[in-house]
Amino acid sequence: MSEDGFASIILDVDSTLCGVEGIDWLAAARGADVSERVEELTRRAMAGEVALDSVYGERLALVAPSWESVAALADVYVAALAPGAGETVREIMASGRSVVLVSGGILEAIRPVAVQLGIPQRHVHAVSLRFDTKGNYRGYDTTSPLATSTGKRVVAETLHLRRRVLAVGDGVTDLAMRPAVDSFAAYTGFIRRASVADVADVEIEDYRQLGELVLT
Ligand SMILES: [Mg+2]
Repeated sequence: MSEDGFASIILDVDSTLCGVEGIDWLAAARGADVSERVEELTRRAMAGEVALDSVYGERLALVAPSWESVAALADVYVAALAPGAGETVREIMASGRSVVLVSGGILEAIRPVAVQLGIPQRHVHAVSLRFDTKGNYRGYDTTSPLATSTGKRVVAETLHLRRRVLAVGDGVTDLAMRPAVDSFAAYTGFIRRASVADVADVEIEDYRQLGELVLT
């Protein structure tokens, strides 16, 4: 690869690699009441009424996902893989470049899609949950920076990936990685957020465009 090409690609998962928002899916599976309370919490966080970083744990506590529901979500992630994403990710890795998943989602739900794509487990970064022996939710890894609003930047900085590094995502927590990487691509294939796409280095709406950006 040329010196000005990308050697490492950081990919977001929810609404970027896969067409699903994990916590929303888990909340919906718990019924309308939980789903509405989670939405309200998200809305208040976005409006600045509650601290974004406290919302992570509060939403999970409301949803209290069982091991069984997390396993079901894993199947949903695999089924909701973005069109062309599997082929493009494999081509990028076959070219000698690294693909790293950095997600604020649930590690145990994301692992299977990484396995399917052949992404090594050491390149999968998300928030691990704890369960009791019956599979009931017992909390999350509160030491993970990924449970915070600026955590993706911290992770991107500490991974020491081969440069140049391209980060790809749909949300503000992805955009927060921009100072730690060489370029940021807004992925708008599932949802286009103007606050992210308008300030991105480049906007891509499908994985063919990602392949062109990285491989040519
Ligand atoms: Mg996302």
